[in-house]
Amino acid sequence: MSKIYDIAIIGGGIIGSSIAHFLSERGYKVAVIEKGRIASEASKAAAGLLGVQAEWDEYDPLFDMARKSRRMFKGLSEKLREKTGIDIGYEEKGIYRIAKSDEAAEKLLQIMKWQQQTGEESHFLSGAALREKEPNVSQSIVGAAYYPTDGHVIAPELARAFAHSAAISGAEIYEQTEVLDIQMEHNRVTGVVTSEGMISSDKVIIASGAWSTKLLRHFDKSWGTYPVKGELLSVKSYKPLLTIPVFEDGFYIVPKRGGRYVIGATVKPHTYNKAVYAESIQYLMERAIGILPGLKEAEWETAWAGLRPQSQHSVPYMGKHPDIQGLYSCTGHYRNGILLSPISGEYMADLLEEKQTNSLLDSLTRREGLAFKN
Ligand SMILES: Cc1cc2nc3c(=O)[nH]c(=O)nc-3n(C[C@H](O)[C@H](O)[C@H](O)COP(=O)(O)OP(=O)(O)OC[C@H]3O[C@@H](n4cnc5c(N)ncnc54)[C@H](O)[C@@H]3O)c2cc1C
Repeated sequence: MSKIYDIAIIGGGIIGSSIAHFLSERGYKVAVIEKGRIASEASKAAAGLLGVQAEWDEYDPLFDMARKSRRMFKGLSEKLREKTGIDIGYEEKGIYRIAKSDEAAEKLLQIMKWQQQTGEESHFLSGAALREKEPNVSQSIVGAAYYPTDGHVIAPELARAFAHSAAISGAEIYEQTEVLDIQMEHNRVTGVVTSEGMISSDKVIIASGAWSTKLLRHFDKSWGTYPVKGELLSVKSYKPLLTIPVFEDGFYIVPKRGGRYVIGATVKPHTYNKAVYAESIQYLMERAIGILPGLKEAEWETAWAGLRPQSQHSVPYMGKHPDIQGLYSCTGHYRNGILLSPISGEYMADLLEEKQTNSLLDSLTRREGLAFKN
């Protein structure tokens, strides 16, 4: 294999695939290099929540990026269906963030306040008002914030649609091909060394999720990503139990099409073991039934696990290397990579075209007190 591309992207998860979609649409010759299959890791496992307001307790620069990203889904969903035939299952009916105590409800009101000051809509519902809309929700829920513009998608379908769209626009997708290292000459990127041979490109983007540490060392020795395992399960019910996802401090029940309910997720850092354990199923089901007692009669479907890519500095590394020409990074999106995928793709495409500065990486790294030092 000895081919020349404008841009080589390492990793065919939702982030690499989104970047490939945006760059290919702008006419660049792109290669996506994936050690397994497209969307076979975190991007396959994700629940697909687009929880901008549900997820952000405090303001940070990523909140602005997340809400811009959320706004892109409607148009993208239509465009991707038209171009690739793939339906990403986009639902924009909102998310309820629930509270089980007066204290938790007070915290929700505080969060709603700062989010409303940024122009984002939300409504507080008492427990009774919530049960008028969702009669199957337990009496133990004292209230909920309703975020009408949050939503959800089918994550692996979105990742595949991005990759397929990129391929239609001329990208080449190399599956079962591992990148072993990035090749450089005199502080300039020249390509990647893969398990199948060399791929030449003077621009390389690291988008390899929880496996990025070895490649990120070119940025800084302290940079890296690690896996945060999450286990999920799904059940089926012909009886409608819930119309809109409910979210409570990282736990959620997401009603999907066809009477499926996705319930997740556990949080287990620093393991690449994707086994699903019985005690995790017990924990998830007990918590879910506590919120939605009708789930007791739902039929078991399946369970799975995935590895969220967390960065050592708890912020995604998105930007270009200040000294090594042609080296870029876009990884470490932790629990919001599906939500952030459209804006990440567009941001990286703009950065490569120099329509965008390194401002996001700069502001995130400044916030974390990081500096570039090789
Ligand atoms: C249980 C769970 C629930 C989640 N729920 C949500 C949610 O509701 N909403 C949301 O927004 N986000 C959610 N996430 C987070 C989201 O899934 C991730 O942030 C996102 O998928 C990260 O995408 P990625 O492309 O960076 O990583 P991945 O999807 O892991 O892709 C990285 C790819 O790089 C490949 N790779 C690695 N190293 C190499 C190499 N050397 N050469 C070639 N290929 C390589 C890997 O094989 C992999 O396919 C969830 C994650 C999990 C695990």
